[in-house]
Amino acid sequence: MSALLPVYERDLVIVSGKGSRLTDAQGRTYLDFAAGIGVNGLGYGDRKLLAAIKFARRIGSPAGRTELVAFERAFHGRTMGALSITWNERYRAPFEPLIPGVVFLPWDDLAAARSAIGARTAGVFVEPVQGEGGVRPAPPEFLRGLFDLCRESGALLVLDEVQCGLGRTGKLFAYEHAGIRPDMLALAKPLGGGLPLGAVLVREELAGALQVGDHGSTFGGNPVAAAASLVVLDQFGNEEFVKKVARKGTALMKGLRAAARRYPRSIKVVRGLGLMIGVEMHGPAADVVRGLRAEGILATRAGDAVLRLLPPLTVKGKEIREFLDALDRVLATGAGSAPAPQVSSEGTGGAVA
Ligand code: PMP
Repeated sequence: MSALLPVYERDLVIVSGKGSRLTDAQGRTYLDFAAGIGVNGLGYGDRKLLAAIKFARRIGSPAGRTELVAFERAFHGRTMGALSITWNERYRAPFEPLIPGVVFLPWDDLAAARSAIGARTAGVFVEPVQGEGGVRPAPPEFLRGLFDLCRESGALLVLDEVQCGLGRTGKLFAYEHAGIRPDMLALAKPLGGGLPLGAVLVREELAGALQVGDHGSTFGGNPVAAAASLVVLDQFGNEEFVKKVARKGTALMKGLRAAARRYPRSIKVVRGLGLMIGVEMHGPAADVVRGLRAEGILATRAGDAVLRLLPPLTVKGKEIREFLDALDRVLATGAGSAPAPQVSSEGTGGAVA
């Protein structure tokens, strides 16, 4: 009998880390362009959404607002509540029935949003940059449109900045790029600097709708995690630090766009904001992740085709160049290119099926 659930691959045992470098149990070092899926924002959580969903229902249901709106390709987490507003069937199917009343809308389609958001909507849940769904920044006019629709209809705008918040996109909060303000904001990953910590920020006027006993958590308000978050917030509150993230993101993006020109058979498109970047491949991103790993670089994927880059926000310029050089070597092997076309069995002299 296994003592550990097999829900994670366990093929890498990291024993120490400094800056952007990690060392495994065999003494091999890696340059970290995954940062524990965006957790170790400062070089080296989360119950937050389960609270935001409850709060949206708590505030909305007395007025008959029970519907939750989310978007195609959204990922909000794996607790039953968060899973209910997560789009991917692969995550949802084994746990159905999930919580009812969730409507999924196409991404970046304001007309669809306009017809779905109304008097029955309790909350509209959005990642300003979709993470697991392929690193897709919401166009600012789409976020502004949702903001207006929420204001007109009285629904709450709930932003999930678990992955894209706290400096990652080159602004303290990703929604600042669109010049809007949410009603609720979920934060986690980098908030505790590696310790498990999540938070839901609620507009002051809404906080009064919650009463003693509406929510609670045995491990909530942990003082050690809260102390760690003070260090993190001190750094993220520094405007210069966040501006530097934006500059480093621009350098990485520029290098990746140059790589896309050199390897058009591998790279389809590069997109992202700040140091949250997705490189969509023609072929499997897993091959690129594997190639980078052999080069001593850790990166991750978002779906099958997107290489997802989330280096620590403290990554240095020369580490970005080191990454780009390694990526170049990996792409030169053909990794990430579309599978080789099959020659037709009819043998029509070079025609492909
Ligand atoms: N929201 C977003 C946008 C995320 O990217 C993540 C983690 N990748 C989560 C929430 C938290 O997911 P989980 O509950 O699986 O930790």
